[in-house]
Amino acid sequence: MCGACCRTFPVLVSIGDAAREPRIRAESLRLPEWQRSEEWEFQLHPLPFQRGCAFLADDDRCVVYGTRPGVCRRFQAGTPECAEARRREGLPPLP
Ligand code: SF4
Repeated sequence: MCGACCRTFPVLVSIGDAAREPRIRAESLRLPEWQRSEEWEFQLHPLPFQRGCAFLADDDRCVVYGTRPGVCRRFQAGTPECAEARRREGLPPLP
């Protein structure tokens, strides 16, 4: 809900993610061929002139939450990675 992870860490997503959420193709950069893998095909963050993921709304909510990429589904609130993202945003860790 804070969006800290969506602004802090690179968001690299797969072809399967783009099949589930077609807006990914329009809002991302396709990785160069040498960087692509089964898991990494498109880059949603960082992108030029954007502070966070292309799908992060002004109210810090994900506009594609129901069809969000697998990497976002696996990220868990309250983990050390979550605390690090929040620290970089000037937020305290979640209780
Ligand atoms: S797709 Fe949604 S949950 Fe994933 S990084 Fe972007 S805004 Fe955050």
